[in-house]
Amino acid sequence: EGILYLVPTPIGNLEDMTFRAVRILKEVNWIAAEDTRNTMKLCYHFEIDTPMMSTHEHNEMESRQHIVEKLRMGENIALVSDAGTPCISDPGQYVVQAVIEAGLPVVPLPGANAAVTALIASGLTPQPFLFYGFLSRKKKEREQQLRDVLNRSESVILYESPHHLKQTLADLKKWMHKERRIVLARELTKRYEQWIRGTVDEVVEWAEEGEVRGEFCLILEGISEDDEAVLQAEWW
Ligand code: SAM
Repeated sequence: EGILYLVPTPIGNLEDMTFRAVRILKEVNWIAAEDTRNTMKLCYHFEIDTPMMSTHEHNEMESRQHIVEKLRMGENIALVSDAGTPCISDPGQYVVQAVIEAGLPVVPLPGANAAVTALIASGLTPQPFLFYGFLSRKKKEREQQLRDVLNRSESVILYESPHHLKQTLADLKKWMHKERRIVLARELTKRYEQWIRGTVDEVVEWAEEGEVRGEFCLILEGISEDDEAVLQAEWW
């Protein structure tokens, strides 16, 4: 039987590809990619010419079965997403579940991931932390998530797209204690990597200065015991 490898790819800087990741991508029979055109560029750079198959959200059901069949036939497959670690706010989770259910081996490789990279240089308490990924765009679900996030005593890591960042900051600011800190990690590992660290007001001010561009992780300081009373008294 074959092995499903979960292979992280860089989140900006190509040098963050590991030697092992390159070797596995060269050695497997198939690369299952979120966007084959995108992964093709990476493969070109590292001189990898392994055949590819596509596995994105819209064909996940089908590709799950396809992957399980190939593994049963003894073929090895590497699962990659467009950037960073597969399954982390990226497709892959259902493929992994199907492969485990089929009783076949899954081998994960460590590698690039925006959340942990942002956390370690945030200056906020690294553990415990809560990884949230993207907040929902659906009103009710989002409100519930915001309530959860704001009441957490752990550092909370969010992913956000540039055009939703201002809205998310505004939503957080509305209910946050003024002294509570936020850290934005922008364009991690890239040429214009930038860190915005401050109280919620300071970070909102930064975002209001101009157009928000690039990729962001947002880390929210955990709530302190003193703040909790404030929050609950004012809540919604
Ligand atoms: N699987 C990826 C990982 O392991 O980090 C995350 C993929 S998710 C679809 C994309 C989001 O991750 C972006 O919207 C942003 O919030 C965050 N992200 C990815 N690359 C980043 C970077 N270079 N700098 C800051 N945030 C990044």
